[in-house]
Amino acid sequence: MQPRDLSDHVAYEAGRGIEEVARELDRDPSEFVKLASNENPHGPSPAAAVAIREAASSVSSYPKAAHADLTEAVAERWDVADEQVWLANGGDGALDYLHRAMLEPDDAVLVPEPGFAYYGMSARYHHGDVREYELSKADDFAQDADAVLEHYDADRDRIVFLTSPHNPSGSTIPLEEVERLADETSDETLIVVDEAYGEFADRDSALALIEGRDGFDARDDVAILRTFSKAYGLAGVRLGYAVVPEEWADAYARVNTPFAASEIACRAGLAAIDDEEHVERTVETARDARAYMREYIDAHVWDSEGNFVLVEVGDAAAVAEEMQRRGVIVRDCSSFGLPGCIRITCGTEEETERAVETCNAVLADLDVEPDAGDATTEAEVPDT
Ligand SMILES: *Cc1c(COP(=O)(O)O)cnc(C)c1O
Repeated sequence: MQPRDLSDHVAYEAGRGIEEVARELDRDPSEFVKLASNENPHGPSPAAAVAIREAASSVSSYPKAAHADLTEAVAERWDVADEQVWLANGGDGALDYLHRAMLEPDDAVLVPEPGFAYYGMSARYHHGDVREYELSKADDFAQDADAVLEHYDADRDRIVFLTSPHNPSGSTIPLEEVERLADETSDETLIVVDEAYGEFADRDSALALIEGRDGFDARDDVAILRTFSKAYGLAGVRLGYAVVPEEWADAYARVNTPFAASEIACRAGLAAIDDEEHVERTVETARDARAYMREYIDAHVWDSEGNFVLVEVGDAAAVAEEMQRRGVIVRDCSSFGLPGCIRITCGTEEETERAVETCNAVLADLDVEPDAGDATTEAEVPDT
């Protein structure tokens, strides 16, 4: 037999890992730094590492108490009701739940291009169609309501995804524009603001729109997405969540996987959420690193509010490959539809300096001419 027709589905292309690259090049893993997946260069919070070790003896039980405790801790952090917190197996898992809760077959989601591949992948798993709005490279990936509304179809688009800060460019959208977008789209269209990099940004969370804070009116058509993978350094345990309006928060019980986050993930999250110092240190490192890269890389570097920067290098595949050969693994953004760009994650001070030095040396040696053309004029690469 065969699975159903999966020809519309594509595999996720993750950033490359050190072990994988070292094996391929027959080199020692210790020679490499990986700045390709926006992970935390300081690792997990030490308290979370202890909690993970301590959780080892209790993994024979389903994580009922831990799940409830973490839900409560996250709800308290945002000052919302417990029901509004939809814990999941990574932010990716929360995307699945939102799609399960919202999409009827053939409804569409409207996603940014370039953008995060999993929005579309998950929508397709849930029998949805994927439509795109363009963030223009020539316009520095600027985000506002009009950029989305130009492509919005009120009859079809059930969810609109905003990524703020945006991966891979680092651009953000002001809350006033999110509000205007929510106002001008149908009451039946949910605006999901993906704040996977929210901790790194000088912007308030779109939670203000859900709860009616800071002068905004409360509304039931906005949700936010958050993750423990980036600022909290827990990418390996898979933990994220959505915060949704109270009006339909009870849908979670009907769509979630039983025990959506593991005992280990919940215990790690509980410890991490209390370790503010670790997050502050991480954010400070990222801010210093992105400023440093912007100043010292000999190519155009976009202003970023995330823990990464996008760099215009001309031939991304060639530059990423050569940087990798010299020990620095970065993300070739061809798979994002940006074959002229690489994305470099903010590392420790030492890692970031090495990345800049290596990038500049490679640019000089390859003598590539970064071209400032618009993304739409470049080769069509599958959106993965
Ligand atoms: C990393 C990331 C996520 C979530 O990742 P998880 O590891 O599944 O929590 C969501 N959106 C964007 C844009 C991301 O970069």
